[in-house]
Amino acid sequence: MQLRIPGPTPLPDAVREALGRQMINHRGPEFAELIARVTRRLKPFFQTTNDLLLLTASGTGALEAAVVNTLSPGDRVLSVSIGVFGDRFAEIARVYGAEVVSTDVEPGRAADPAEVARLLESSGPFKAVLVTHNETSTGVTNDLAAIAEVVHRTDALLLVDAISSVGSIEFKTDEWGCDVVLTGSQKGWMVPPGLAMAVVGPRAWEAHKTARMPRFYWDFAKHRSYLERGQTPATPAVSILFALDVALDLLEREGMENIFARHRRCAERVRQGVKRLGLELFADEAHASSTVTAVKVPSDVDASRLLKLLREDGVVLAGGQGAQSGRIFRVGHLGWIDDADVDEILAALSRALPLARRMPARG
Ligand SMILES: *Cc1c(COP(=O)(O)O)cnc(C)c1O
Repeated sequence: MQLRIPGPTPLPDAVREALGRQMINHRGPEFAELIARVTRRLKPFFQTTNDLLLLTASGTGALEAAVVNTLSPGDRVLSVSIGVFGDRFAEIARVYGAEVVSTDVEPGRAADPAEVARLLESSGPFKAVLVTHNETSTGVTNDLAAIAEVVHRTDALLLVDAISSVGSIEFKTDEWGCDVVLTGSQKGWMVPPGLAMAVVGPRAWEAHKTARMPRFYWDFAKHRSYLERGQTPATPAVSILFALDVALDLLEREGMENIFARHRRCAERVRQGVKRLGLELFADEAHASSTVTAVKVPSDVDASRLLKLLREDGVVLAGGQGAQSGRIFRVGHLGWIDDADVDEILAALSRALPLARRMPARG
């Protein structure tokens, strides 16, 4: 079976074994060591010395946490959205009472830093800028360094959804001055869904002091003070922490540079392979993601039939979301993947494509 959606991703055997471990007291010394160790080992992947908090939630919970810990109702926020997940981040801010201004980008394209700069100047000032590093719905990676540079010409906080990138694509929290960075366990980390990670910088902690959006479960300060005692405010997803501890062994053994290179290589192999099959890529290739590739569904192919044929052949890919539903399909190539997996995906695709084509109309 090839589960190749952009999360959840397949689990290596050692990670699956860790999930079967007996429970421990989440207020005991063994857990305290575990959370301290996992937190310390995650930080290099974010290239940060900021606080790293583990939340028991999916990635969306972490997006909500970033919003409610730094903002107040009525705050003006710039949403640099280039797809479904960027829109979700903006929607959370709106639901909690922020006044959201959004950029408008053609689907499949990256955000233009010059356009972000223009909006910051013409529509500001903003309390925060929400950015998706890697937009999973379109397979596009934004130039976050360039966007961060223009954001830092203002006082706005930079809140980054790095859910489908950090750990798989190079991410420089401190160098880029990201105030909050978020990810989820089921993407590149090779563990099941259930944990989210939030990296919180000094400017975000300052904002937290005066932020008035309601928060209880998500309160970063509560998480930080419990973490000092080796605990979490509420019962955490203990098994996912067991799994993450083992996954970090594998990730550290491979090394960050090798992990990033493998993701770039697999992504390139996917792109070349689908083009060889006569298919067209959805995303602007200059900003193509190393973790997910979106492919246009040809006009004579039924997307759901294609995905069904692939599934019956042992390869599970993702459909399009929102406006792209039925128009694209997506290959997740993050986490536990290598060239041979890509070749299996491409082989299945070459078998399924001709069968998914609609019969030509008879005259
Ligand atoms: C998966 C994903 C999310 C949502 O995460 P959940 O864990 O499904 O809540 C948000 N943003 C991006 C970029 C993602 O890839």
